[in-house]
Amino acid sequence: MTPVECEFEPEVLSATLQGRWPERVDAHLREHVAGCTICADVAAIAGVIDAAREVMSARVVLPDSGRVWWLAQLRARREAAEAANRPLTVAQAIAFVCAVGLLGACLRAASTWFHSAAGRVASGVAGFDIGAWLASATRLLAEHGALALAMAAVLFLVPAAAYLAMGRD
Ligand SMILES: [Zn+2]
Repeated sequence: MTPVECEFEPEVLSATLQGRWPERVDAHLREHVAGCTICADVAAIAGVIDAAREVMSARVVLPDSGRVWWLAQLRARREAAEAANRPLTVAQAIAFVCAVGLLGACLRAASTWFHSAAGRVASGVAGFDIGAWLASATRLLAEHGALALAMAAVLFLVPAAAYLAMGRD
């Protein structure tokens, strides 16, 4: 059975990684590695790894401090902008929900008004009571005017809110 471990293995490894192999090690260690396959493998592999590490560290170019600072500034500014946008988005969502709710209420009111108006006009025509018909028509016009004003306000506010919300992004 071939041995898988050798007591000199750590010594050879550290000598290789510290750049002492093979010139600056004890003669008896060199002699041992010459006759030991495990230590010869360790020396060869560690030597290759060490050489690769040196090549890689030579290729690594440290970025200059100005660029690092600039990137940090850029990142900080972007994070600040994101943090500032978050509550604005929540406020926009609340405003939109309110506007939609108001629009729904207006539509419901308009539908109720239409039904009652149709009923009142029909009864006015049926009775030929011109005074009552005028009174109800005037009342309807007043109600209608207020309702139309509210509808126009909502119809103007919703696109305006949407436009502002999109314009900010
Ligand atoms: Zn050995």
